[in-house]
Amino acid sequence: MTTQKSRPQLVADYQALERIFHKPENEQSRNVLTKYMEQILFGLHDFLGRHVGITEEIPLKELAEQFTASTIARTPIKKLADVIAEIIEEIAPQAVNISSPYFIGHMTSAIPFFMVHLSTIVAALNQNPVKLETSKVVSVYERQVLAKVHRLLFNFDDTFYDTHIQKPESTLGSFVEDGTLANLSALWVARNRLLPATSGYAGAERDGVAKALNDRGLRKLTILVSELGHYSIRKSAGVLGLGYDAVTPIPVDSANRVDLTVLERMLKDHHRDPETSVMAVIGIAGTTETGTVDPLPKIAGLCREFGVHFHVDAAWGGPVLLSENYCGLLKGIELADSVTIDGHKQFYLPMTNGMVFFKDPQAMDAVAYHAAYINRPGSVDLGIRSLAGSRSATSLVLGSALDIMGSGGYALLIDHGIEIAQAFAEEIKRRPMFELITAPELNILTYRLVPEALRESKDSKQTVNDQERLRLLNKINIKVQRMQREAGNSFVSRTTLRRSGQPDTVVLRAVLMNLRTNQEILNAILDEQEAIYLNRIAPTLKLI
Ligand SMILES: *Cc1c(COP(=O)(O)O)cnc(C)c1O
Repeated sequence: MTTQKSRPQLVADYQALERIFHKPENEQSRNVLTKYMEQILFGLHDFLGRHVGITEEIPLKELAEQFTASTIARTPIKKLADVIAEIIEEIAPQAVNISSPYFIGHMTSAIPFFMVHLSTIVAALNQNPVKLETSKVVSVYERQVLAKVHRLLFNFDDTFYDTHIQKPESTLGSFVEDGTLANLSALWVARNRLLPATSGYAGAERDGVAKALNDRGLRKLTILVSELGHYSIRKSAGVLGLGYDAVTPIPVDSANRVDLTVLERMLKDHHRDPETSVMAVIGIAGTTETGTVDPLPKIAGLCREFGVHFHVDAAWGGPVLLSENYCGLLKGIELADSVTIDGHKQFYLPMTNGMVFFKDPQAMDAVAYHAAYINRPGSVDLGIRSLAGSRSATSLVLGSALDIMGSGGYALLIDHGIEIAQAFAEEIKRRPMFELITAPELNILTYRLVPEALRESKDSKQTVNDQERLRLLNKINIKVQRMQREAGNSFVSRTTLRRSGQPDTVVLRAVLMNLRTNQEILNAILDEQEAIYLNRIAPTLKLI
């Protein structure tokens, strides 16, 4: 970015610092600060309205060359006004306009306007829920927000919530940074409950996994999840000392749901082998790549039968429970021992907000830590049972958003996503140049572009063999996705579906969560992909 000349009046002295920490001394400086807030709200917002897709195109390599300074300036070089202007005018145009209705490739999208206000409050209050002494009412407020989402998931009765919402010894869930850490938290609890401290042993948390396993005559632990499981599960197994090979991917069926026959067989095998133990089975409520929901009630039944911790990764799909029309898709989630939800996905919160919930209010005792100077047993210090220590009070954002939107408002967003995804799938099926690969169950679908010459023909006059055909299709779809992204009008993501028994398939992936994305926009995105293929790729392939 432009390097500002250091101006002589910018000095770091006590008077200047005093001004920064105290409230504005007069009307004029108040007005200046208010103007800055306006600039942030409207300057950024106008910018987001003007640009679509991935914005101005400067190659990343060129951008990187502008950010190579590694020393901290001794004297101040910019004023707040300069910093704000620079971010709006120079950083933002090179950032990604995730708010665009043409941006349908990732789980990050437009958020309601008021989220900026709520985030400002969180920053201004600067509470730290790690302990009561730095958060007070925010800690009990947070417990209420957690209870609301817990009830959405598990739907216990009034007596249950009256008992546990504010009981210091109970923990219904915990805020963490993101879905990754929510999964880690759930598996951390599962590990410690499987290898607890007993009269004979200190348990995994204190002794480490190797000793805890050895004490019990076990050789290894396993985590079972479908092959479409999120990679945060492998990360968690690594961090928890199991090693990521402990995660056993289970094949999916033709609808991309975990194959129950294989799952049951594996549970039986492990049950028979006295040296291994299954630490958790994970059902996915909305896989990252295809948005499909595993058969949760059946998985729950197997977990009960074999006495295994049942975790549901609902990082993506959890908020679907707010929709009366579609909550049935998540049936069985109430049978989970623990659930992951990401607030920054379908609760439309700003980055970052993850949550983990436990059916049993005592489950998180398995990961309780006490430090003499900070949190005392029996206190409301939320840092006692939490992966995070200090963290921001994002419960204020979620709690307020629930008040502002109501479950009805969220339901409209969820319904729109699911229904526009269905309409998009129909349009894809209607167009000869496309093939729907995974139909949407929630609001995610995958498809690919298939030129006429590469379509599977009923008669046997196929000009290329299957392997060659797949290779070409993968290549074409990689190009289509890249060229569309680089053109900057719209964005669809790309992934390679790796499912056992099927060849690795490059697909275009659409995530429909922006209320402003409509059929017309989706048609334009497909038109653009067709044009990219016909005008820029086909001539180089000599296929048509
Ligand atoms: C997004 C996602 C995660 C990880 O969430 P982060 O917030 O990116 O850490 C985990 N599981 C599923 C199914 C997800 O979709």
